[in-house]
Amino acid sequence: MLALFIWGALLVAQTLPNAAQIFVLHRFDDTRHPTTSISTVKLREVFTYLRENGYHVASLQELQEHLKSQKPLPPKWVLFSIDDSYKSFYTHGLPLFREFGYPFILAVYIEGSDQKYPDFMTIEELKDTMHYGELALHSYTHPHLTRLDDAQIDADTQKGLAWMQHHLAVTPRSYAYPYGEFDARVQKRIAAFGFEIIFNQNSGAVSHESNPLDIDRIALMQDTPFKTKLRQRFLKAQWNLVEIDPKSQQLQRIEISVDPTIKEVECYVSGGKWERLKVNAGKISHTFNTPLSKGRNRIILKTFDHQWSSKLIIL
Ligand SMILES: [Zn+2]
Repeated sequence: MLALFIWGALLVAQTLPNAAQIFVLHRFDDTRHPTTSISTVKLREVFTYLRENGYHVASLQELQEHLKSQKPLPPKWVLFSIDDSYKSFYTHGLPLFREFGYPFILAVYIEGSDQKYPDFMTIEELKDTMHYGELALHSYTHPHLTRLDDAQIDADTQKGLAWMQHHLAVTPRSYAYPYGEFDARVQKRIAAFGFEIIFNQNSGAVSHESNPLDIDRIALMQDTPFKTKLRQRFLKAQWNLVEIDPKSQQLQRIEISVDPTIKEVECYVSGGKWERLKVNAGKISHTFNTPLSKGRNRIILKTFDHQWSSKLIIL
């Protein structure tokens, strides 16, 4: 029985493509903001683990080459991204990245630097950082993009890009949504600027089959069990239907297609708990009666072998 189980697990593992986990961090050693900060003690522990266990910390360029050519990723790839360009990254995070020689993507909240807000990096600090990692745009004003109309989204993005070109002489190839918030309309507007990679903040891993304009990231905070997160894989899922009752704003129904070899998934809806759903010939169809809350809601699917796919719903 045990042998059969192990053989089954091996078979599945062989057919799954490798996946990279892209971690997202915010502040470093900042005790004023414990929920969005990581200590450099913990980060050193993570970096040391990666180094001692044969992980490759990849650059965005390396990842993008695989996404473009649809070439499977090598095993044990990890990427790091940092959102908001807080000064604590420059003073506390960057020295550790430099010590380990690990590349990173720094998603810059432009207004913070442009207006010289004390908590954010200066132009000189951004320039210095560009020697070690790559910059992404994280908007000019850090708005809730789904609440803006098309012209407002365009104006914010244009302002951010113009600022980066003028002050840093760089046109970023990637964009990270403020608060990780987007919908199909927002994605289309941002993609129209020619970004080759767009980062969301839905937990999941990235394979060569991921959509470059919808790249999942895993939050890495002080209490994140990072070794568990390193097991996450990309779940190729087609979200065919997510039905929400417009009156009650309750989630009513989902219909999702996955690989037919998957027989069961676990599903989580924000505010609820994990529940097991059967998969019939690659189709998941489930009826809910779940009240969603104002703002960000997520529906997460995961398989027993750690493949993840999420859907963000903003009300
Ligand atoms: Zn942000």
